Formats: sequence, C-alpha cells, structure tokens
Amino acid sequence: MNSETRTLLNRLGLPQRLTGLAVGCEWHPASGSPLAVRSPIDGAELAVIGTARPEDVAQASAAAHEAFLAWRMVPAPVRGEFVRRLGMALREHKEDLAALVTLEAGKIVAESLGEVQEMIDICDFAVGLSRQLEGRTMPSERPAHRLMEQWHPLGPVGVITAFNFPVAVWAWNAALAWVCGDTVVWKPSEKTPLCALACQAIVNGVVGSLPGCPAALSSVVIGGRDVGQALAAAVRLPLISATGSVPMGRAVGQAVAARLGRSLLELGGNNGMIVTPSADLELATRAITFAAAGTCGQRCTTLRRLIVHNSRADELLTRLKKVYERLAIGDPRQSETLVGPLIDEAAWQAMQAALAEATAAGGRVIGGDRVTQGVPAGGVYVRPALVEIVPGAPIVQRETFAPILYVMRYEALEEAIRIHNDVPQGLSSAIITTDVREAESFMAADGSDCGLANVNIGTSGAEIGGAFGGEKETGGGRESGSDSWRAYMRRQTNTINFGSDLPLAQGIRFDP
Ligand code: NAD
Repeated sequence: MNSETRTLLNRLGLPQRLTGLAVGCEWHPASGSPLAVRSPIDGAELAVIGTARPEDVAQASAAAHEAFLAWRMVPAPVRGEFVRRLGMALREHKEDLAALVTLEAGKIVAESLGEVQEMIDICDFAVGLSRQLEGRTMPSERPAHRLMEQWHPLGPVGVITAFNFPVAVWAWNAALAWVCGDTVVWKPSEKTPLCALACQAIVNGVVGSLPGCPAALSSVVIGGRDVGQALAAAVRLPLISATGSVPMGRAVGQAVAARLGRSLLELGGNNGMIVTPSADLELATRAITFAAAGTCGQRCTTLRRLIVHNSRADELLTRLKKVYERLAIGDPRQSETLVGPLIDEAAWQAMQAALAEATAAGGRVIGGDRVTQGVPAGGVYVRPALVEIVPGAPIVQRETFAPILYVMRYEALEEAIRIHNDVPQGLSSAIITTDVREAESFMAADGSDCGLANVNIGTSGAEIGGAFGGEKETGGGRESGSDSWRAYMRRQTNTINFGSDLPLAQGIRFDP
C-alpha cells in the first residue's frame, strides 16, 4: 500500500492491520483467502486483506442478534440520536470518504462527494423519521374496543451491496434500519471492501460516543458470492436487502424465500427516455449526457435506451455527437474529468461484446472505443457509445454495465411507450416534453411501468426523499425515502377491550 492510501485510511480510522471481518467494534482476523484490492484508476494494488469465510456470517449474525435484543428497547428518538451523530461524523469525513470512493470505485470526485452527501441526507431523513414511526388507529366494530397497529423492530438486517454505490446504498439501509430498532450485517462488493471498512470505522467511533449503544449495531463481512449466499441463508437475519445484478437477486431471493424470510431486492435496470416533438433539445442533451455517460455508464439508473420522435431524431443526434466528442475522459481525481474508468477489464469485454452484437443486428455504432491517450496507464477508459438501432434487437433487452446508449425512433406516443416498456427490467424512466398531455400520459397507469418516472430530467440522480426501486426484474424493492421504512419493521395489530362485556366480531354469539 502506498503512503498516500495509508494516510487516507488512517484519517478514516482504519486499523493498521486490515481485516475483512468486523463484528461490532472488534476487528477479527479473517482467515479466508486474501483479496487484492485494485484501483480502477490505474490498476494499482491498494491493499491486500483477508476475507471472511461463509461460516463467519454466523458469528456476525449472532452478535447482531444479541445487539438487537437491547437496541429494540431503546426509544426510537434515542436511536435517532445515534444516526444524527453518524450524520455529523460523515460530514467530518466527507472529503476523505469521497476520495476513497474515487480510488476504489473510480467515480469522479464530484460524484463521490455526491454519494457521501446522499449518506448525510439519509441520516437527516432517518433522524426525523425516528419520531414518526407511526401506526394507525382504526374504528372497531365492537363497543368499548380499540383497534390499532404498531410497528416494532424486525431484527438484524443483512445488507448485500454492489460496487458502483459502495457507501450510499449501505447508508440507505443502515440509517433506516437503526432508527427502526434493527441492527445490520453488511456484505459489500468484493470490488470495494475498503469503503465498507471505512464506514465501519466511522460507525465504531459513533457507537463509542453514545452510552448504552450496543457495539454490534454494525458488522462487516468481506467476501465474495459464497459469503453473500451465507447471508441469504442465515435464519438470524429476517430481512435481506440485496443490491446488484438480476442473477444475484434471483439467487438471493430464492434462498431467502426458501426459509420464508423477507427480501428487499434492488436489481439491474435498462432505463429508457422518450424525447417528444415538443422537447427542449438543449435540456434533453444535457439530461441525456449526464444520465448515459456519467459514472461511465455504471449506475443502475444509467440511461441505456433513447426513444426519439422521428421529427427530432436527427437534430438530437447531431447535438449528442458534438457533446460526446468533447467529453473529458480520464483520471477521475482531476477536476475537469467527466467520465472516469470502467471498473475492470471484464466490464470492457462485456461492452465490446454488446457493441459487436449490436453491429451484427444492424446497429450503427458511434464511439465505444478504448481511450489510451491522456489517461492513467493500467485503467480501462472508454469513449461512451451511441448506437442507432431498431427496437426489436435482442441486445436492447439486456443491461450492459457500460456507457452504451441505444437510440431508437418512433412516430406515435403510444408506440414510444410500448417500446419503452418492452424490456424485462423496470427501474427508471423519463420523458422530455413541454406538452402536459404527453407528460401525464407517460406517468399514467398505462404509461411507464417503472418504479421511477421523471419529466424533463434524466433517469439517474434520484433524491433520498422518495422511495427508490423498480418493478419486474429490478426486483420490486423500495429503499430510502417515503414510507420505505416499513420494510424494516414488523406490523402488529392490537385489539383492546376496555369494557366489561365480551362481544365477538362479526356478531358471532358463543354463549356456553
Ligand atoms: P453483482 O450482482 O455482481 O454483485 C452485487 C453483490 O452481490 C456483491 O456484493 C456480490 O458479491 C454479491 N453476489 C453476487 N452473486 C451472489 C449470489 N449468488 N449470492 C449472494 N451474493 C451474491 O453486481 P455488481 O457488478 O457489483 O453491480 C452492478 C449491478 O448492480 C448492475 O446490474 C446494477 O444495475 C445493479 N445495481 C442496482 C441498484 C439498484 O438500486 N437497483 C443499485 C446499484 C447497482
């Protein structure tokens, strides 16, 4: 590890001897195979850490369960105080944590700072929520009876996350879980373990500052698929929140269902945008460029399909080509860079394969080549691709986790919506229009079939205040804002008789 990385990790509170098993505030030696962590910026080895073994999940889950038994009885607003302090600690470490996100995931600094800001935002949201975990009171049909519901803590939550949001997705889950009275066991992506260890170190500092806070509110198990599978199978974890690809979600969903647990799945997207005849093309160009090329096409909400009205397609394509040509591609640590590297060589292989398939299907590819000049050696840098193609091409049905934008044309809005919905995934969607009828039609019951439907903004860059998630193969889960917190609690219906008779529901008479 170079001294710059070591200094960064020191500032974030990581121990000298890095280990992939943190149970509460204890760093345990991890005896699984060593994992070399590489930066996508230049392929440099950042660290080598021991990984946890699948059997270590039992230890972490047992500690999380013990901590849960105490934490569930702490008043929710006091649990909110813990999350408030975490939000303050994240503010203090914002620049350092963002620098680590850039180093490990390759995001440009502005986006990494945005990711940490999202963690701070969800902490603020959760603090307010800690005084609003409300249940309803319904009128009882019986005299002198009260019918109501309460929301109680659920148990330890297992969280599995993807490489592309190495800190925010965990925070969305953990901040809500903690105010709801749950504890958390986290298995981050094996591509971004240092970010997870840094978050754990920050949490440990906050746990130490609050008397009565059980140490094992948070644990981290670093490992690959087998460790994720152990989490999915762990009966001590009543809820598994899993973010990643559709095949991962299918495996996790089935394993959790087999033990009748709950799962919250946030899986792949294949997000589309319709650009209508009335669209503001200047606004459209900016929205498309950030959504399709930003984060080097590696967001679940990345724009992958553009459906443009015939009358505007040529003009929009001309504008896009111009902007794509001058996109600054390179070292994500440089302030002028807009597009950083792909995560690894495998992502480049997948991108090339998709472009070859698109070409074979009659697609016309612009860009999509590898960039080797003016970028750090050892990283995988690419020029984002625009592909003019027909809607029926099979490649358009799949999510390729790279900056490829398929451009298709339409004539009538119904046709555009049909093309838009004709994919297996259902995460994010957008329409660019100045016509209120078109906008409302897109958001109507027979409009976009996605969990997120935007008007005059791109498909990526959601705020934490709304519920986040998607339909169909995206998994149906909702995280973050609105009433997503209910997934982290168990509902209890209470019927209280405050009279001296015992009337039965539905007027049943039973008089022995
Ligand atoms: P991935 O599916 O390869 O890995 C995600 C996580 O799941 C990792 O921690 C991995 O170790 C684990 N995992 C993989 N297979 C598993 C299995 N069979 N059982 C248990 N755990 C398993 O995904 P990735 O390459 O890290 O991330 C990219 C994918 O994630 C894309 O499809 C993207 O759309 C999706 N994603 C979705 C959201 C969302 O909110 N919908 C957010 C971010 C990323």
